[in-house]
Amino acid sequence: MKKKTEETKNAVLEITPEEEKVFISLRASSWSDFFGQDKVKEALMIAISAAKKRKEPLEHVLLYGPPGLGKTTLAHLVAKEMGVNIKITSGPALERAGDLASILTNLEENDILFIDEIHRLNKVVEETLYPAMEDFAIDIIIGKGPSARTLRLDLPHFTIIGATTRIGLLSSPLRDRFGVIHRLSFYEPEELSKIIKRGAEKLKIPVDEKSTREIAIRARGTPRVALKLLKRTRDMAQVKGTGEVTEQILLETFRLLEVDPLGLDESDRRLIMAIIEKHDGGPVGIETIAASISEDVGTVEEVLEPYLMQMGFLKRTPRGRVATTKAYGHLGKKIPGNKIQEKLFK
Ligand code: ADP
Repeated sequence: MKKKTEETKNAVLEITPEEEKVFISLRASSWSDFFGQDKVKEALMIAISAAKKRKEPLEHVLLYGPPGLGKTTLAHLVAKEMGVNIKITSGPALERAGDLASILTNLEENDILFIDEIHRLNKVVEETLYPAMEDFAIDIIIGKGPSARTLRLDLPHFTIIGATTRIGLLSSPLRDRFGVIHRLSFYEPEELSKIIKRGAEKLKIPVDEKSTREIAIRARGTPRVALKLLKRTRDMAQVKGTGEVTEQILLETFRLLEVDPLGLDESDRRLIMAIIEKHDGGPVGIETIAASISEDVGTVEEVLEPYLMQMGFLKRTPRGRVATTKAYGHLGKKIPGNKIQEKLFK
C-alpha cells in the first residue's frame, strides 16, 4: 500500500490496506460529520457559494498539513457541495505530461481533480499544469525534431484541489496558481472525541466517554491516528476481553503500540532521545537526526517533528533542532543545567 505513509515504518502511523478500507468507510460524508477546522470550513463554504453564484468552477484550492488531518476528506466534501465529480490522483502517479493530459481532457465542466502529494509532481508535468490551471488549455507537442508542432487543446473549466504535507517543497509558480490556500492544524482532544464517537457508532464499538477521551488524548492531534487507535482497541477487546472497551483493554492496546500518555510513540521518543543522548540536547541538523534514528528526512519533517513541536518537546532554531526542558522531563532525563543555560543564553 503506497498511500501517504509509504515512508513510515511506525506502528501507530502505518496503515494496512484493510485499515485503509475502514478509513474510507468512515470518511465524513457531510459537513456536519467533519469536526473541527472551523476556519478552513468557513472559508471553503464562502468560496463555494461565491463560485456557485457566479456559475463558475471553484478557484484552485491547496490544502496542506501533516498526514491524516482530513485533506482528502475535505476535497470529497467540497465536490459534494459543488455538486460535481471528483477524480483522484497523486503527484507520483502522474509520471508523464500525457498522464495529466488524458485525465484533464476527460473531465466535465466544473469537475474537481484532487492531486495528493502535489509536491511530488515532476517538473515536466508541473509545467504542463500551469496553462491548464490558468487558461484551461494544454499544449501538446506533436511529432519530433524539426517538424514538431505544438497544438493547444482547450479543456473544460475545472478545479484542482492539491494536498501536501510539505508546502515548503512546492515551487512558487505552482503555489501562486492556487486561489485558496489553507493549512490544516492538529485537532483538540474534544474534536477528536467527537470523531472517535462517530467512528465507534459506525463500527458498532461499545466505548464509553472516559475511554473515548483517553484515546483522543493519545491520538497526536490526528483523526487518522484516533480512528486507528479505536480500531486497534476493538481488536484487543475482542481477542483479550469480552468485546467491551475497558480501561485495562485500553492500556494493553497503548502498551502494544507503545503510545505513551501524551501520544508520543516509539519513533517520537527515539528522536528526542537521539537529540538528548547523542547530540547533547542539540542544536542538531535534521539530516543528522534522521541518520541517527535511521528514518528518512521526509518522515522526520512531515510526521514526527510537527507533533513534537506542537507539544513543546522540540524547538527549531537557526542552528538546528533543540530538545526542550519539557522533553527532558517527559523522558525522565536529567537536565544538564549548565549546558542548557549556555545554549539558551548564547
Ligand atoms: P489526509 O488526506 O489529510 O491524510 P484523510 O482525509 O485521509 O486525511 O483523513 C483520514 C481519516 O480521518 C479519514 O477516515 C477521515 O474521514 C477522518 N477524518 C479526518 N478529518 C476528519 C474530521 N475533521 N472529522 C471527521 N473525520 C475526519
